[in-house]
Amino acid sequence: MLKRIIYGPILSRRLGRSLGIDVIKTPDTKKNCNFDCVYCQLGHVPQKITGTDELKGAVTPENVVEGIHSYHKNIEDLDYITFSGTCEPTLNPALGEMIKGVKEISTHPVCVITNSSLVDNVEVRKNLAEADLVVATLVSGYEDTFRAINRPAEGIELENIINGLKAVRKMDKRPRLGVEVMLVDATIDFPVNHTEREIARLKEVLIDIDPDEIELLTVTRPPAEKYIVPVSDDRLREIAIEFENIFGKERVKLVLKGVRKSRSIMKHGNIEEEVYDLILRRPCTFQEISASLGLSKEELTPMIEKMLSSKRIKETIIREKKYYKTS
Ligand code: SF4
Repeated sequence: MLKRIIYGPILSRRLGRSLGIDVIKTPDTKKNCNFDCVYCQLGHVPQKITGTDELKGAVTPENVVEGIHSYHKNIEDLDYITFSGTCEPTLNPALGEMIKGVKEISTHPVCVITNSSLVDNVEVRKNLAEADLVVATLVSGYEDTFRAINRPAEGIELENIINGLKAVRKMDKRPRLGVEVMLVDATIDFPVNHTEREIARLKEVLIDIDPDEIELLTVTRPPAEKYIVPVSDDRLREIAIEFENIFGKERVKLVLKGVRKSRSIMKHGNIEEEVYDLILRRPCTFQEISASLGLSKEELTPMIEKMLSSKRIKETIIREKKYYKTS
C-alpha cells in the first residue's frame, strides 16, 4: 500500500521537481475524485466520490509520514512535496495533519493541488492553511460551463467554490494561493472556456478572488474525452496579455509546453514499481519517465518492454506523441 502513496518525482511545468503524495482511497481505483473533468489525464470515470466520509482512514497521516520518510531523502534537488495524484486531496479529512507530519521531517515546501470543490468548507480551509502553496482549479465564471467541463459530483456549485477561494485568500494564516485556469478547445459543439465572453467573466471573478498568482494553461496530455483539444498558442498569448494588463506580469504565468529541468538524481528501489506508480498518476512519454526518475535509455527500455508485454501498461498516441499509461 505505501508504495502507492508516494510517487515521482514528477517534472512539473509549474512546480519543478515535485514528489507526489496521493491520498488514494484504494490502490486499484483509477481515479478517486468528485469531478470527472473532460480534460482529465486519468480518463473518464463516472463513479465520483461524493464526500469526505468515503476517504476517512483510507490513508492516514502515519502512512504519509512513513512513506515520505523512506523516500524523499533518495532524491536530490527536490523543489516541492505535493499532494495530488489520482485523488482530490481535500477529500481526505486528515490532510492538515498529513501536511504537518511531512513538515516535521522535511524542509521542502508543501503544495496542495486541488480542484477547489470543497474550499467552501471551513475544515478543508483549515487543512489547506498548513500548506505553503495551494494551486486551485477554476475553469469558468459561469455555472453551466463549469458543469460541462468539470462534471462535478452532485451538490458542488460554482458560487460556493468562488466564495471558498475568496475565503482562502482572507485567512489569517494562509498558504500562497495560485488559481490554475485550464483552457480547453473542442472539435465538437461544446461550451469551451476561451471565448471573449468566458474570459471577460473569468477576469471579473479573479479580481474578486484576488489570488497571489494565476496560471493559464491548456491540455497537453491525453484527455478523458477525445473531442477536447488544446487552445492555440496564439489565443493563449492573447488571453495572457489581457490578464497581465489587469493583474500585472508578475502574477500571471502562461504555462506553455515543456519542462526545462535536468534529469533527476535519485537512489532507486524497485524500478518497475517506480515507473508504474508514476504513470498511474499521469500518462508520460519515454523521455518524461526517463527525466523524472533519472533512468537512462538502457535502464528504461527493457522495463517498458516488460511492462508492455505483461499488459501492465499500454501505449497511446496523442498528437503524434507516444504516451505510456496504465492498462
Ligand atoms: S482533472 Fe483532476 S479534478 Fe478533474 S477529474 Fe481529473 S483528477 Fe479530478
